[in-house]
Amino acid sequence: MTATGWRPWSFDPDEQVTCIACGDELPRDDAREYDKHGDRWSRQGKQFEYLCKPCYRECCHQNRDGLEAALVAADAGRTDRRTFLRRFCERAADDAESRA
Ligand SMILES: [Zn+2]
Repeated sequence: MTATGWRPWSFDPDEQVTCIACGDELPRDDAREYDKHGDRWSRQGKQFEYLCKPCYRECCHQNRDGLEAALVAADAGRTDRRTFLRRFCERAADDAESRA
């Protein structure tokens, strides 16, 4: 008999992930997966990014119209993450203002 039990996948409950929006570290368990391709079901060859719950609420319940265009305009995948996030947030802020 084993005391630890058998687990079918390797899951580390202590794994920490970093929120891509605010940079906070949080347990993976508490994080929301974010897939910039908008398709969480085809997981092959992908690396998911994570958002903490407050950022998830702020970022992901907005209209997705224009999101892909905004990602492209911000050079998603072609620039380093810091530059991309800065550009993307600037655009998002502009959008929010022009809608207000
Ligand atoms: Zn966050």
